[in-house]
Amino acid sequence: MDFACRDVVSIRDFGKEEILYILDHAGKAMPVARGERRSDVLEGKILATLFFEPSTRTRLSFETAMLRLGGSVIGFADASGTSVAKGETLADTIRMAESYADAIVLRHPMEGAAKLAADFSTKPVINAGDGAGQHPTQTLLDLFTIKMEKGEIADNNIVLVGDLKYGRTVHSLTYALSLFGANITCVAPPTLQMPSEIVSHLKQMGGRFNQSESLESVIPGADVLYVTRIQKERFPDPEEYRKVENAYRIDNALLANAKRNLVVMHPLPRVNEIAPEVDLGPYARYFRQAFYGVPIRMAILSLILGKGEI
Ligand code: ASP
Repeated sequence: MDFACRDVVSIRDFGKEEILYILDHAGKAMPVARGERRSDVLEGKILATLFFEPSTRTRLSFETAMLRLGGSVIGFADASGTSVAKGETLADTIRMAESYADAIVLRHPMEGAAKLAADFSTKPVINAGDGAGQHPTQTLLDLFTIKMEKGEIADNNIVLVGDLKYGRTVHSLTYALSLFGANITCVAPPTLQMPSEIVSHLKQMGGRFNQSESLESVIPGADVLYVTRIQKERFPDPEEYRKVENAYRIDNALLANAKRNLVVMHPLPRVNEIAPEVDLGPYARYFRQAFYGVPIRMAILSLILGKGEI
């Protein structure tokens, strides 16, 4: 399997076998991710992290992954301190970054920005979130979490809840889950349901999929509950946000009828959609999920920068 120099723009760029290969590779990277073993496979390599939108986990876990593999990182976490503030185009910023670094990680508010960057760059571009579009490396770490915590991805009942319209993590994840034959239930207010083009794509692929507005009714059958934040920053009208901001809240009372081995995930940050009391209970996996971003991003970086082993 050849990953060298490949862009990671959409999860759809990868087949099931390739995804499993990346997950397997991430599993082997765990001791290095935990700092128990040293690796220098990316020594001399430079990663540019260009973040035009806020980020905590994605940016820091990419940096950690690169540093733990002996590489270096340049970049910015706030474009207002760069020539973008002077009116530089994305294409020109990318041209510069590719002349300084061996790979580029890009987060941008515009859907399609990573594809555009990949078209302008001869170096690999990794999409770290393009507006409400896609977030493929989050999907890889989400799949890794399900595999680590449930053993298998196939045949799990996976409930996605929250903002399925603007949430890019669930757009990428839905596609990947259907590849693996999971049962997907989408729970959202009618105005925030999964976009119809994703639903029809799923149906074409023969995905097992249904929609509901009621979280209570689907909790007892869930193996994984994937909670998302209402994406306030994507609402054109603040009044529309206010109508749905507290649509769902996961607390211990709601989880009273859950399966004993339910796993609760969240790409984070959470606002108020998961009560802090859930953190202390048996179901919470979201902080561990965020840690899994390190081995996954180590696997991706080592594969696309052409050094298979970690
Ligand atoms: N951190 C995730 C993202 O960048 C989820 C979120 O912001 O709600 O898409």
